[in-house]
Amino acid sequence: PGIQDRLFEFHQSGIYHFDNSTAVFIDPVRVLNRSYSRFTVSPSAYYSRFFEDSGDKPVQKQIEGSRKRKRKKEKQLHPLTETEQIAEQRHQKARPFLLRAHEALLEATELLGVLRNLRNDEFTEEGSLQKMENDDLDFVQLGSVWQAPLCEICLHLDQDNVPAEEGAVGLVPCSEGMSMPVFNNLVMNESANDVEAEILNHRYIMPKKSCFYMSDLRDIHNLVPAESDCGFNLILIDPPWENSSAHQKLKYQTLPNRHFLSLPIKQLTHTGGALVALWVTNREKLRRFIESELFPAWGLRYAATFYWLKIKADGSLIGELDLFHHRPYECLLLGYSIQQDADIGKLPGHKPLPNNQVFISVPGDYSRKPPLGDMLLEYAPSCGDTRCLELFARELSAGRCCWGNETLRFQDRKYFSTR
Ligand code: SAM
Repeated sequence: PGIQDRLFEFHQSGIYHFDNSTAVFIDPVRVLNRSYSRFTVSPSAYYSRFFEDSGDKPVQKQIEGSRKRKRKKEKQLHPLTETEQIAEQRHQKARPFLLRAHEALLEATELLGVLRNLRNDEFTEEGSLQKMENDDLDFVQLGSVWQAPLCEICLHLDQDNVPAEEGAVGLVPCSEGMSMPVFNNLVMNESANDVEAEILNHRYIMPKKSCFYMSDLRDIHNLVPAESDCGFNLILIDPPWENSSAHQKLKYQTLPNRHFLSLPIKQLTHTGGALVALWVTNREKLRRFIESELFPAWGLRYAATFYWLKIKADGSLIGELDLFHHRPYECLLLGYSIQQDADIGKLPGHKPLPNNQVFISVPGDYSRKPPLGDMLLEYAPSCGDTRCLELFARELSAGRCCWGNETLRFQDRKYFSTR
């Protein structure tokens, strides 16, 4: 396809395929918006970082930044430890794919023009930016107090979507809708439209055909289906790995690695098998733990590694590619959850996974991952209706079940505009 066709497709889907590269550029806002019909994710709320013009940065800050970089470079002059050497080898393997992907982006001048304007809102609402203040509900805190079971969500469903049977699954009528417990409960929007929901006078948006279960890890077993043919074919996982960053500590709780060993991945897998996608950090010790303990404990067969390359709005990388402790990319490890003697090639609807696929995007909020789930669907073993689950989610998506202790975090009405 020509440039205009590719740009047109990008505006529709949020995905841009380069000319001579398998890498893709994605605009998470456009991808997420495929889940909504009435509301739309607001680009200015999503892109909270990396759109500042570095020219506006106070000069002192720029100098401090370059001093810090120099200090890090000096540090690297010490001989690398054995673990650091292995990490460096991993980086060297990934490097050519990342460089080639970045070159493809820089050659796509027409896309770079669009990129600079990604943050501009098509639908603006009076005062939407003022609404971005910090009055969010803290679900982790709310879900941990004794009153948590009393906390309710009221879904403003269409008249057509209100369940016909009276008193169905503990639903209680609330003003213009149905209410149910928000924690430790499977909350569903089965309708073909996004709906507004209310919790303690705060508004949230639920995409069409979406559901969530908001709980602590200790209650995750409630997600295990009674019948294994009701299990999931695609499982996305973004665990709260321990991390030394003080910034990260302020954003969400982390858990020691051993807690993830007990995630019931096998029990959540569909009888036909599942593709499991796991976000990891670049810490070598973590990679080793995953390879030697976690994948075996979950019964996963490693299949491929994907990379998320992070750029700023001007197309440059968010940091130097070779800076040891701050790589401008993250990895997504992919494996199959299948029975021991099963042959991956014979899985229902099997399509071979490419290795070293690079996805490029401008990051949103801290630790918010680009929405790659829909792009993975075609590689998930399934005979038609692919059942998809996201663990440790902070947002919802159409056609997916999301679990975590703050699944509605980015569903707050303040992140959306009306069409
Ligand atoms: N994938 C998310 C995104 O793109 O925005 C980011 C997930 S973040 C890395 C990890 C999440 O795990 C956080 O929302 C955190 O609150 C949640 N979490 C931490 N401890 C948890 C626990 N004990 N039970 C359930 N969720 C937990």
